[in-house]
Amino acid sequence: MKSIINEFLDQVKQRNPHEPEFLQAVEEVAETVIPYIVEHDIYYGKNILLRMVEPERVITFRVCWVDDAGEIRVNRGYRIQMNSAIGPYKGGLRFHPTVNLSILKFLAFEQVFKNSLTTLPMGGGKGGSDFDPKGKSDNEIMRFCHAFMNELFRHIGHNTDVPAGDIGVGAREIGFLFGMYKKISNGFTGVLTGKGMSWGGSLIRPEATGYGAVYFAENMLKTKNDSFEGKNVVISGSGNVAQFAAEKVLQLGGKVLTLSDSSGYIYDEEGIDADKLKFVMHLKNEKRGRIHEYLEKYPNAKFVKGKTPWEVTCHIALPCATQNELNEKDAKLLLQNGCICVSEGANMPSTKGAIAAFHKAKILFAPGKASNAGGVATSGLEMTQNSLRYKWTREEVDNKLKDIMSNIHDACIEYGKDENGYIDYVKGANIAGFVKVADAMLAQGIV
Ligand code: GLU
Repeated sequence: MKSIINEFLDQVKQRNPHEPEFLQAVEEVAETVIPYIVEHDIYYGKNILLRMVEPERVITFRVCWVDDAGEIRVNRGYRIQMNSAIGPYKGGLRFHPTVNLSILKFLAFEQVFKNSLTTLPMGGGKGGSDFDPKGKSDNEIMRFCHAFMNELFRHIGHNTDVPAGDIGVGAREIGFLFGMYKKISNGFTGVLTGKGMSWGGSLIRPEATGYGAVYFAENMLKTKNDSFEGKNVVISGSGNVAQFAAEKVLQLGGKVLTLSDSSGYIYDEEGIDADKLKFVMHLKNEKRGRIHEYLEKYPNAKFVKGKTPWEVTCHIALPCATQNELNEKDAKLLLQNGCICVSEGANMPSTKGAIAAFHKAKILFAPGKASNAGGVATSGLEMTQNSLRYKWTREEVDNKLKDIMSNIHDACIEYGKDENGYIDYVKGANIAGFVKVADAMLAQGIV
């Protein structure tokens, strides 16, 4: 088996050199899905995985815009249309200076499995730009978003490809992107998700990724007759996902000890309660400040510069920042300190070594493609409401989100439980996600 997997990975590596993040994501899937393919005649010998790792389409384009000083700036825009076997391409846009083809291909590949797991009819895609929104004025953000959409619009559509937010793309950016799309397409459609509440957005969409990651962890804890009640929780990140993960942890009786950004983490021994979290939300969303400014209001907390929060003793860890933010050393430290559950809110935050350590210790570990699927699932619900020209209540969307997260959990058990009762959520999510897409591809023939 090892040699079949290695042969496959060599082939992918040869075709995609210099794409470490993409190869990391493919390797994680190949290791669990190839043995399944080999065991099942309907999939074996059809090169399905080789077809799945090749994007259906990769679009790169120039984005020129003028900054506040009158200077002409040039950025690169991307859209990866990875797989449309089960629905229109669906996935976020990331604006961050580190954005490149490798990162977007890994995200698009993950998105295919994630979207399949949601049970909703969405294919997978991802896009973005190396544009850095940090420190830009609202007008600069608007000019960039308009310039970006001026090209992207010809490649997307509510039945073709439906982008949304990701790192660096929130409500403000989606607004500007939607405004330009509406103007040039001369139509008010659900072409983007994460829209504002008064113009086609869905209630609970802003909360959904963070809430979903906590609902998923709740499901995992239930398999051990356990819950969030009284648990110490370490969260990384302080953006949209981390904020609402923290909110849900508090609602379920847990204590949130940390939040972070790229400059370091804050550790509040007394717990980041609802009032303090409100302050963080204002600081990050309105003031667009840095996490260390928390100390100006709550001086009893500590700011640990340049580090990730995994050294803080906790029962539950929720990595909600970015890829590869939790390595093997961090994982071993978490385990040593008694961590029993890790639910990824970000995409691929744990390295391969970290995941191996969690599996070896047989703790509860959920990969992002399962545990953070609540965001895109609620985007799917936004698309449904747009098609119906209707709006569900908060409670209706939240209940659907809870159901979807628990269905994903069931699917992970179906394909990931071993004979000793241990649930390998990585294996479960990969195979469950694969089966649905592969079946659709087989039914549609070689296209
Ligand atoms: N960027 C989010 C993700 O990684 C959401 C994508 C969407 O809503 O389309 O799943």
